[in-house]
Amino acid sequence: MSTNTASVMVPPTVEQLVILREGVELGEFETSFADSPLWVSARGKHFQVRGVAREVVLCLRDGCRTVSEIRDAIAKTDPDRVPVDQVTETVNRLVNSSIVQYGSESSSSPPKGSGWKLRSAGYFATYVPILSQERLRPITTKLAVLFDPYWMVRLLPVLLIVQIVFWLNSGPRLIGSIASLNQSRFLLFLLCNYAGLFLHELGHAAACTRCGVKHGPIGFGIYLVFPAFYADVSDAWRLPNRKRMIIDAGGVYVTLILAWIALMVYLTTGSAVAEILTAVYGLTAFFSLNPFLRMDGYWLVSDALGIPNLMTANREVTEWGLSKLFRHNGREPQIWCLPERVRRMYFIYYSLFLVFLCYGTCVFYIWYLPRLLHSYPQLLLTFNSAYQTSGLSLATITAGFRIALGTVPAVGMLIYTGRFLYRTMESTGRAMWKAVRGPIAGLSVGG
Ligand SMILES: [Zn+2]
Repeated sequence: MSTNTASVMVPPTVEQLVILREGVELGEFETSFADSPLWVSARGKHFQVRGVAREVVLCLRDGCRTVSEIRDAIAKTDPDRVPVDQVTETVNRLVNSSIVQYGSESSSSPPKGSGWKLRSAGYFATYVPILSQERLRPITTKLAVLFDPYWMVRLLPVLLIVQIVFWLNSGPRLIGSIASLNQSRFLLFLLCNYAGLFLHELGHAAACTRCGVKHGPIGFGIYLVFPAFYADVSDAWRLPNRKRMIIDAGGVYVTLILAWIALMVYLTTGSAVAEILTAVYGLTAFFSLNPFLRMDGYWLVSDALGIPNLMTANREVTEWGLSKLFRHNGREPQIWCLPERVRRMYFIYYSLFLVFLCYGTCVFYIWYLPRLLHSYPQLLLTFNSAYQTSGLSLATITAGFRIALGTVPAVGMLIYTGRFLYRTMESTGRAMWKAVRGPIAGLSVGG
C-alpha cells in the first residue's frame, strides 16, 4: 500500500472505534498474483491494499468496529497468516492515508460513490479538465458501438500494418516537411492534429461506456514535459483484465482509423496536409503503443500480464540484480511469486525494456543531444529575427514550435532516464547501507 500524507499520528487504544471514511470505494483487483490486492479509492487517490491492511479494510466493510474487535476477527479467520500485533500499527497507517478514521457508530454511514481520479494522474505534472463527464456522456454513448471487441481484434492489426507500410515509405520525409507548409495549411494541420489527439482520448472514454463503466472528464495536462490530452478512465480498475485491454486499446484504435481516413483523403484528393496527417497520426499511434513509457502500450502489457505496476517490477528486478552483483542480499522482487508462464513473459518484456533503456540512452546522448545543441543557436536566431520583424506572427509561432519540437523530447528523456536511475540507485544504496548497518530503528515496512 502506498501512503503519501503526513498528518500527525495518534496511537489508538484497543477500544477505539474505527470506520471506513465516507466516499471510500473498494473492489477486488484482478492480477496474476495469488494474493491479489484490494483496490481502494479514497479522496480521489487509488491504493492497492495488501496483507494486514487488506484484512482490516475488509473487516470494516460492513460497519464500524473497535481495534480489538478487528484483531479478534482477523485472528479468527487465519491466525497464522496475519500477525495480529500489527493491526494497531496498520490501522494508524490507514488513518494517515484517509482510508479509515476513528469515530463513533453514528458517523459510520455507508460509502458513497465519488471522486474517480484518472488512471494516470499521478504521472501528470499538472492537468485541467476540459469537457466534463456529463457533457461527454451523450457522445460516448453513441460512439460505444464502434468498440466491439470482435471487430477491434480484427481491424487493429490491419490498420497497424497499413500504417507501418506507409511510414516505412514516406513517414520520416513527411514529418520533416511539416515546417515547409504555408501558413494556412500549417494552421489546418495543427488543428487536425490536436483534434486527432482529442478524439484519441474520446476513444478511451467511449470504450469505457462500451465496457459498462463510467468515464470521467477529458482534459489537458503535462506528462513528464509533453503537453497531452488525458481521459479519466480510472473506473476501468473495476474490470477484469481483458475488458481493461479494450479501454487501453480504444485510443490507438481511433487514431489508426483517423490515419486511415487521412490516407483515403490523400489518395483521392492528393492533399499535402492529409498526407502529412497520415504520417503524424501513425506516429501518435506508434508512440502510444510504446510499452516502456506509461502510455497505452504499457497498460496493454500490464493488463495482459496481470502485473499492475510494471515499472515498479522493473525497478525491483534491477535493484535485486544490482544487489546480487555487489554480493548483497537484496529484497526479492514481488514478481517471483507469479506463475511460471507469466514470469517468463515478463522477463521477455524486462529484457526488451533494458534494450530500450540502453539504446534510447545511447541514441540520445551520442546522436540526438549533440545535434540538438549544434542546431540550437540557429533555432534561437530564427525565432528572434521572426519576432523582431513581425512580432507574434505565424512565422514566430512556427520558429517557437521548432524549438519546442527539439527541446521537449530532450527534457522528457532526461527526466525519464534520470528518474529511473535515481530511484534504482537510491533504494539499492539504502538496501546496502541497511545490510552493513542493520535495520534502521523505527522504520516499518510491509503490513
Ligand atoms: Zn491513449
